[in-house]
Amino acid sequence: MARPTTRIMLLLLLIVSFSCVGKAQNFGQPPASQQVPVPAEVAQAESDALGWLQNLIRINTTNPPGNELVAAKYIAGILDHEGIRSEIFESTPGRGFLVARLSANAMPNPSTALLLMAHLDVVGVDKTKWTVDPFGGVIQNGYLYGRGAIDDKGMLAANLAVFVALKRSGVRLNRDVIFLAEGDEEAGGAEGMKFAVDKHWDKIAAGFAINEGGTVTLKNGKVQYIGVQASEKITYNVDVIATGTSGHASIPRADNPVAHLSAAIAKISTYETPVQFNSVTRGYFDGLAAVQDEDTGKWMRALESSDRAEHAAKYISSVNPMWSAMLRDTISPTMLQAGIRVNVIPGEARAVLNIRLLPGNMIDTLVAKLRQLVNDPEVRFEVENSGEQAPSSSLTSDLYKTITQVSAREFPGAPVLPYMSTGGTDSIQLRLRSVQAYGLLPFPITDEDLERMHADNERISVDSFRKGVEYLYAIVSDFSVAK
Ligand SMILES: [Zn+2]
Repeated sequence: MARPTTRIMLLLLLIVSFSCVGKAQNFGQPPASQQVPVPAEVAQAESDALGWLQNLIRINTTNPPGNELVAAKYIAGILDHEGIRSEIFESTPGRGFLVARLSANAMPNPSTALLLMAHLDVVGVDKTKWTVDPFGGVIQNGYLYGRGAIDDKGMLAANLAVFVALKRSGVRLNRDVIFLAEGDEEAGGAEGMKFAVDKHWDKIAAGFAINEGGTVTLKNGKVQYIGVQASEKITYNVDVIATGTSGHASIPRADNPVAHLSAAIAKISTYETPVQFNSVTRGYFDGLAAVQDEDTGKWMRALESSDRAEHAAKYISSVNPMWSAMLRDTISPTMLQAGIRVNVIPGEARAVLNIRLLPGNMIDTLVAKLRQLVNDPEVRFEVENSGEQAPSSSLTSDLYKTITQVSAREFPGAPVLPYMSTGGTDSIQLRLRSVQAYGLLPFPITDEDLERMHADNERISVDSFRKGVEYLYAIVSDFSVAK
């Protein structure tokens, strides 16, 4: 009996898998009959946007030097073709941003406006490690490959598709929708977002914003959860400088700065900063516990228990280094510099610590702690920059509510979790101006594909890209179309 059953099963499996060939991925959505049909203008914009994304990848905007305005002009051409006027502002030659607006009323109301933003620049590539041309816009086996496919030209093309679809649909808006394509995100933003905010705030002023920085996490073909970035850690670079007496290496000295610096870095590397929570990380771990395996879920729920918190934090940190970084201030030594000759004891040795503080924490407090820990008069600390402290975006705003409602419809059973990114984004510039900014990379994506961001063979699945456009359109239209 076992045999025929196996054979029938195999046959069934074959039929099922054969019938799946060429079918779009489902991502754990309800059956098509229960879904809200995709409007025709959105389906059309999805197809258009895939071509736009290919072309945007082909325009090399590696930063430095960026040269973002070549891509901005390409977008201006698309918008022009749709009858949408756009403006380009130049910060330095060839760099800056593009902005366009769909107006709800004759008089703009910045407090209600929605800003859709993405950056035009990309990080560099090591071409030898890629299996395809990183600037070719190549589609292979259902994936579009290229630098920027997920960071951040995918989002740029999706924003553009949503913006164009809104215009084509001719709907009446209840708020202005602003499209922003900016530059220099990958190198601090001075020539892009900072320039836009400092010099042309009136062009982009909004009450709400959608930017990169979140994820729609795909696991085993199903969306597991939606992480909406509402906060981010604050970056500082701190120099550690040891000074001593320079001299001939044949006569060792007790104040050799290389030895003192090394000892200091060793001590700093073993220091464990305390675990701390805020409303965003609390919401994240609470919600994430429900979709984890039993053990991980159990320890996530115990993170703030009175008796097991310490073990819980250890366990959670060992499972995923990013979770560890979300629970505490982090310190990464990233650069070392000492010596001019093999036989000369240098007078100085330096290291850089890249520090990411939880919002609200003070760099001086941590540096004082490190100074005490190192306890070496020969070693001093210098803070390079002043980090900007912005409040987190609200978890009860109308836009956050809309994202939650649309997500429940699009990906039933996948919770929306507030997320604090360990890295910085341009959203901080907006939060400093009281904008409710949310990070949302709308494409269902596996952790494996997400790790290709800034790495080799960056890619986006064509089905995910299309789904991301639909999902983003649903959010933007629910939020901005007059009922
Ligand atoms: Zn990015």
